[in-house]
Amino acid sequence: MPHCNKQMISFFLTTKCNLRCVYCYNGEERLLVKDKTLRIHIAKAAIDEYFSNNTSRHIRFYGPGEVTQEFDLMCQIVEYAKKVGGTGVTVEIQTNGVFSDNVCKWILDNINIMWVSFDGTPDIHDIQRPTAKGKPSSSIIEKNIKWLNSTPKKKTLMIGARVTMTELNIRRQSELVNYFNNLGIKYIWTDPLFPEVKETAVCNDKTGRIVDFFDMDTYIDNYINAYKYASDIGLFYGSFLTCNFDGKTNIHCRACTPVPHITPDGYVSACDMVVIGENAHHMDCFIYGKWDNYSKMFIYFDNKIKALKERTSDNISHCKTCEVKNYCGGYCLGEVVNETGKLDGQKHEVCKAIKRLFKEIGPAKHPYAYLHP
Ligand code: SF4
Ligand code: SF4
Repeated sequence: MPHCNKQMISFFLTTKCNLRCVYCYNGEERLLVKDKTLRIHIAKAAIDEYFSNNTSRHIRFYGPGEVTQEFDLMCQIVEYAKKVGGTGVTVEIQTNGVFSDNVCKWILDNINIMWVSFDGTPDIHDIQRPTAKGKPSSSIIEKNIKWLNSTPKKKTLMIGARVTMTELNIRRQSELVNYFNNLGIKYIWTDPLFPEVKETAVCNDKTGRIVDFFDMDTYIDNYINAYKYASDIGLFYGSFLTCNFDGKTNIHCRACTPVPHITPDGYVSACDMVVIGENAHHMDCFIYGKWDNYSKMFIYFDNKIKALKERTSDNISHCKTCEVKNYCGGYCLGEVVNETGKLDGQKHEVCKAIKRLFKEIGPAKHPYAYLHP
C-alpha cells in the first residue's frame, strides 16, 4: 500500500516545543511566529468537514512543535472526533517522547499509533535532540517507552521510531536496530537529513547558509545491511526513500491528493513541511485552504489543488522514463520545493539512491503494516 494511501486529517497543534533539536526542519520559521496554537472551534469544524466528505476516520497530531505541549487541546480534539466519528476513529501522533506520566497513561487509552522522533542510542540522540534547557532527553523517552511497552494494559498501541539520519548515526544503523529492539520497538522508519525550511528556497538562498553534509552512499550501504539484519530478527526497518516500494503509484504521497493538515494559524496545508499558513513564502503552493472567520467555513484555492494533483511521475519530465517511477511517484514534493523552488524539481542524489535501493532490495514482498509517519 503506497504512502499516498495514508489518508487522514492532521492537526499541527502548536509551535511550542520542549526540545531544541539541532537540525529542526522549521526552527527558524517557528521562532518568527512565537507560540501559535490551533483553536478548538477550527479543529472541530475541520473534523466535521473531513468526516462528511471522506470515508477515512484516521486523525493525526503532528508538529510544528511538540503535540503534548498542548495536551488538553489534543484530548478535546480526540474526544470530539470520537463523538462525531464513532468507534471507527483511529488516532496517530508524532511526538518527541518527552512527556509526563499523566500523558503516558492517556496515550495508552487513546492512541493507536505513536511515532517517536528518536535518533538512536543516547550518545547520538542527546547530541541531536537536547531539551530546551540543554539537558539530555533520551532517558525520559526510554522511561516512557519502557512503561508503555511493559504495562499489561497495553492492547492496541503501536510504538514506532522515526529516526533522522545524520553523519552521527548513518554508520551505526544495525546497532540502532538492536537498541530499539531492546526497548520493544519493532517498527523503525529512517529519514535522511534535509535542509530546514527558511524564507527562501535553498537554491535561491544567497546568505551562504550551511546545509549539513549528508553522505547518501554511506547511508544506503549501511541501510541495506541494517534492513536485512532487522528482517532476520523480525523487525521492520524502512527508509523514507522506500516508502512507496510496497505498491504501485504515480504520486508520491497524500500531498498530491491533497488531504488536510490544519495549521496553528488556521490554514489548510498539504504537507508536513509547511506548518504555518501565513507567509509560507516559497512553500506557499502547499497552502490550499484557509479558515474564514466570517463565514465560519474553510475556503479552498482550486488552482493550488489542481497543481498538486497534477504532480505525478507521468507528468514530471525527469520521471517519465525512470525505471522506478511507479514505486517512487516523483519523490517528496516538500523537500523538492524547499530545495529547488519548484514542484517538478529534482534531488539528483536521492534519485540515484532510490534506484539503487530498488535494484538491491525492492519491491517489498508485503504491504507495510505501518506506513511512514
Ligand atoms: S513532507 Fe514530503 S512526504 Fe511528507 S507530506 Fe510533505 S510532500 Fe508528502
Ligand atoms: S527516482 Fe527520481 S526520476 Fe525516478 S521517479 Fe523518483 S523522483 Fe522521478
